[in-house]
Amino acid sequence: MVDAKYDVAIIGAGIIGLSTAMHLLQRHPNLKVGIVEKNHEIASQQTGHNSGVIHSGIYYRPGSFKAQFCVEGRQSMVRFCEENGIDFNPIGKVIIANSEEELARLDLLHERGTANGVPDLQLVEADKLKEIEPHVVAKRALWAPHTGIVNYKDVSRVYLNRIEDTGGTIHLNSSVRSIERNNGITVIHTSSGDYEATNVVNCAGLHSDRIASMMGANPGVKIVPFRGEYYTLKKESERLVKGLIYPVPDPDLPFLGVHFTHNIKGYVEAGPNAVLATAREGYRKRDFSPKDFTETMTYKGFWKMAAQQWKTGFMEMNRSLRKSIFVRDLQKMIPEIQSSDLGDGGSGVRAQAVDASGRLLDDFVIEQTEHSVHVLNAPSPGATSSLVIGRHITELADQAFSLN
Ligand SMILES: Cc1cc2nc3c(=O)[nH]c(=O)nc-3n(C[C@H](O)[C@H](O)[C@H](O)COP(=O)(O)OP(=O)(O)OC[C@H]3O[C@@H](n4cnc5c(N)ncnc54)[C@H](O)[C@@H]3O)c2cc1C
Repeated sequence: MVDAKYDVAIIGAGIIGLSTAMHLLQRHPNLKVGIVEKNHEIASQQTGHNSGVIHSGIYYRPGSFKAQFCVEGRQSMVRFCEENGIDFNPIGKVIIANSEEELARLDLLHERGTANGVPDLQLVEADKLKEIEPHVVAKRALWAPHTGIVNYKDVSRVYLNRIEDTGGTIHLNSSVRSIERNNGITVIHTSSGDYEATNVVNCAGLHSDRIASMMGANPGVKIVPFRGEYYTLKKESERLVKGLIYPVPDPDLPFLGVHFTHNIKGYVEAGPNAVLATAREGYRKRDFSPKDFTETMTYKGFWKMAAQQWKTGFMEMNRSLRKSIFVRDLQKMIPEIQSSDLGDGGSGVRAQAVDASGRLLDDFVIEQTEHSVHVLNAPSPGATSSLVIGRHITELADQAFSLN
């Protein structure tokens, strides 16, 4: 027996799945939309463990989805927060440079951010930087005054309220176990029951490749989970950081590099690093899933990636195991910071899509088939961009599912 029937079923109630449901219902008020989520609450995975930054779109290759979605995404996120009374703070961010190589990369970032349309980006010299961040020591910095902070769980809750107000349904505690398609109808078998859907949108984050495979689509990538670990600045040390402080990223691995972020809840985080997680939801070092780990270890793409990135991987692991190395990297931005300034912090797990050649996919990857859309890579700035991604998926669904 089927428990409910939908025109569109969305798998995963992270910020992307919720935004998609909200946009689908906004555009098609009579559509029957249902969300199936394996956890007992929404936004419990990447969305609930991220840095909470509303990025402005500086780093991304002009023309990439990230560049387009993030710049517009920040504007729409700020508007959405204002309209819905969600607490956010446009606290501002500095990206700092010291060596000649970093200064050259900073200039490129300035050009890139400007080309992407990031407003009011400014290169500042050491004296002006002192006014913005008095404890940072650097030759020059890129100042992005509109980069902000928010709690993406709060944003997700408002998305859900909108969904429920416009007739959408959510099934929590419903882990998808298998999916079959017969006579033009998809049946999603979950731990709480079976749901029928004409069309499916896969927004399962850390498990999106598995959901795609269950539906007979070849995702062409595998999710390799990377845990990002944070420290929290002790209360008495929070005076060292006024806003968001980042190093110039490595252009080949722009998502790496520990930084300081103010959290909207009032504390300051330092991190994250990126170490291979031995479980897809491995938030603690000791978390281990034989199934997840075996899948990573038997994936050719993983070993190709490891061969290409072993040096970086080793450095990240070293920093994870030795607080002194973590502190040394933070001291490159704030020399006076000491190990005693740092207390324990949280962690997040990044769903990194890796292809068979070992390439870490950088841009958002969203594929469509006749009756399904699959979000296969939605790394940072996915939360910032969530309103634009939800709208984009709705436009894809309009065509793929012939909704108009
Ligand atoms: C450490 C870290 C820091 C980040 N910082 C930022 C930042 O500051 N700013 C920013 O813009 N972005 C940031 N990001 C990126 C951002 O968090 C993601 O882009 C975004 O949360 C992705 O949302 P999602 O809905 O795709 O995935 P998720 O939030 O992971 O949601 C996927 C959902 O699918 C559900 N699911 C999975 N499998 C099943 C199944 N079998 N059955 C049913 N349900 C299932 C999961 O339970 C989950 O709720 C960060 C990410 C990480 C990891």
